[in-house]
Amino acid sequence: MSVDYQALAVEGVQGLMPYQAGKPIDELARELGLDPDTIVKLASNENPLGPSPRALEAARDALSTLCRYPDGNGFNLKARLADRLHVGPAQITLGNGSNDLLEIITRSFADRDSEVVYSQHAFAIYALVTRAIGARGVEVPARDWGHDLDAMAAAVTDRTRLVFVANPNNPTGTVHGAEAIEQFLARVPAHVLVVLDEAYCEYLEGDAYPDGVELLSRFPNLIITRTFSKAWGLAALRVGYSVSSAAIADILNRVRQPFNVDSIALAAATAVLDDEEYLIRSREVNSAGLAQLSQGFDALGLSYIPSAGNFVAVDVGEEAGAVFQRLLAAGVIVRPVAGYGMPRHLRVSVGLSAENQRLLDALPDAINPVVDEVLHG
Ligand SMILES: *Cc1c(COP(=O)(O)O)cnc(C)c1O
Repeated sequence: MSVDYQALAVEGVQGLMPYQAGKPIDELARELGLDPDTIVKLASNENPLGPSPRALEAARDALSTLCRYPDGNGFNLKARLADRLHVGPAQITLGNGSNDLLEIITRSFADRDSEVVYSQHAFAIYALVTRAIGARGVEVPARDWGHDLDAMAAAVTDRTRLVFVANPNNPTGTVHGAEAIEQFLARVPAHVLVVLDEAYCEYLEGDAYPDGVELLSRFPNLIITRTFSKAWGLAALRVGYSVSSAAIADILNRVRQPFNVDSIALAAATAVLDDEEYLIRSREVNSAGLAQLSQGFDALGLSYIPSAGNFVAVDVGEEAGAVFQRLLAAGVIVRPVAGYGMPRHLRVSVGLSAENQRLLDALPDAINPVVDEVLHG
């Protein structure tokens, strides 16, 4: 007699779809028989500069301790972060990427009887972790591609335990200013936790944007999550952190795995915080690349959502899936976002100037292959 083992999975898990990551360069190279060096990947919001030399050196030095367990409390990294953010080390929780924290937070504060509020077109992990624990996800329709904060505050009920806000949001790149975020926080009841996901905050320039950490003293129900994967250029190492009240951090630290961030990651993340120059260059390359992509899209007559992140969602028409495939064939990997309810868009991560140009050069034929097909058969 055969057993349907999938049917044994808990209900919330049975309905899950795996997270769709950007296609790895080596995978496309294998599939198309291409030289990996000729492939351009603009699909995972990675830092195109490559890692900081300081981070690399610290990672190499840490290799000599591979036989030891990491410091499960991440003392050095927390101390360095605490210093930088003007908070206490006890307010920081480290995660295996900030993804890990999003899951830890959800598992710590919500269960099958809970509702979790997030926006349409928001980062996919919020819905994924909510469903995985069997809680009810309440997806609030977006406004102009961004979070409708008024509607999100209004969606809070007696059952709501968590609200996720991505600022800026991925994949739309939309961002709310300080005033809008503060007004929103003032409307959310104190017993409902608000997770402010600031994965891209390092790219924001100017005073118009909120610094979640500064809001903590006024809104103790706030949890800020940040990452070393994007502007800090350490995506492979998986390091993120949250900043919250010490009481909330204490709960999160009970739930996380004891050694959720490894020694190499701890060493590299601690070291990169001393490389302010790297961060400045990351910002410069990003704003130049965003301008280059925007101008290129304008020239091609394509509309796009103005972005505050290191990526931009461009409207390539109804055949976005086919455009994505044709770009792959041309050796350019971008990200389809149909799974985010954006079937006309592709998300393009900002690369180096030559990489952005490769995409812009490949786009016309990928969008309009008809001419070629008529001419060549
Ligand atoms: C990339 C991203 C993260 C998580 O990245 P990690 O690599 O797990 O730190 C979290 N939130 C948003 C909105 C992101 O785009």
